[in-house]
Amino acid sequence: MDYKALSYERTAATVIRNLEKRNMTGYYCATKEEARNKILSLMPEGSSITWGGTETMAQLGIFDAVREKNYELIDRATAKTPEESRALYGRMVCADYFLASTNAITLDGELVNIDGNSNRVACIAYGPSHVIIAAGMNKLAADLDTAMARVKTFACPPNAARVGASTPCAATGVCSDCLSPSCICCQTLITRKSRHDGRIIVILVGEELGF
Ligand code: SF4
Repeated sequence: MDYKALSYERTAATVIRNLEKRNMTGYYCATKEEARNKILSLMPEGSSITWGGTETMAQLGIFDAVREKNYELIDRATAKTPEESRALYGRMVCADYFLASTNAITLDGELVNIDGNSNRVACIAYGPSHVIIAAGMNKLAADLDTAMARVKTFACPPNAARVGASTPCAATGVCSDCLSPSCICCQTLITRKSRHDGRIIVILVGEELGF
């Protein structure tokens, strides 16, 4: 018997019930492949799709998968000028689907995200018609305090390194509560409820993903 897998499944069922009371939808997928297929099944071909910075979605292979299908992709990384980037952002907030992960999720179903540029937290909060969030079970935290500690300890330092930020945590691996110009912790979003039926969908994955 794989007790870790069994425990993940049972914990995920609890979190999904708690997401539902917050008007969010949850699914549990045991593997990356299952999660990738589930996400694709939620987005009808022809939809417009965009995303925030997300290592988790990359590890799920979503970006290659959506390029093989008939979607309208809105990729801000293709912008060549600040003006183009701003115009693309205008299209992103009106997209049918926004793909992201979450920096942490509490057992009670709250999503915790910290952002520097803040386009990611803005799109989670409002704009795109649907938000699909994928999260490995390593993103679970007992409560909001633990979630914040998790984000500052295990999410921000590797994220700062990923984006090449000149922050203390990128150099030392430890948060020093900086106010540096390239700080990636400008805005904190706690999603405690969704007002819009069916807008936020959380895919919990029974593997360690992202950070
Ligand atoms: S506050 Fe500064 S040092 Fe701390 S995690 Fe954020 S960017 Fe890094």
